[in-house]
Amino acid sequence: MPCVPVVATERSAAGRDLAMGGAIVLALLLGALGVSSHDAARQGEVVRLVRVKPADAEIRRLVIDGHQRSGTFRALMDELHQSNMIVTIQFGPCGNGRIRSCVSDVQTDGRQRFVRVKVDTRTTDDRLIATIAHELQHAVEIGRDPEVTTSDQALALYRKIALGSCGQGMSEKCETQAALDVEARVNDELARTPRIVAAIAEGRDEQRP
Ligand SMILES: [Zn+2]
Repeated sequence: MPCVPVVATERSAAGRDLAMGGAIVLALLLGALGVSSHDAARQGEVVRLVRVKPADAEIRRLVIDGHQRSGTFRALMDELHQSNMIVTIQFGPCGNGRIRSCVSDVQTDGRQRFVRVKVDTRTTDDRLIATIAHELQHAVEIGRDPEVTTSDQALALYRKIALGSCGQGMSEKCETQAALDVEARVNDELARTPRIVAAIAEGRDEQRP
């Protein structure tokens, strides 16, 4: 299962742009739609895209869909929203396209920490949501260790917690059992939960001023 939690790419300006952009709260009030969710407790819940920041409308749709249909996905977002992490999610190649998704660009401005999640588009929406959840788990792993503020420190963290050759210091392709488990759980939850509710919510979201 390919995954590179830490890629030593050059520092991009995008992280700093986000830092200056401030907190833009995108609220989606499902309760206002009269949506009959399989989970009544979620009606009226706000999907906060403050610390988890989709880079475009397509990723935003997937994140909102995942948040609605998967309790595991929601739990990841909840934990990140209680951290000092800002996680930007975008489409893009990892490892020159040989890897389907990754976390990279671990940075800090001294107050907040920034990481970038990149995912490959060449799969189904539900697989993409599960892949995003997998990478959010890595963001959570980084978020739980306040000492990790650079990609090198993130790699040092994965030397301790990763499976296989990364944990043995022989590879920078790092993977954790927790991320694999999260991905499997989200896949299961999505398979049990239809998409129609998410489609309604998405349409509503687009109409918001
Ligand atoms: Zn992984």
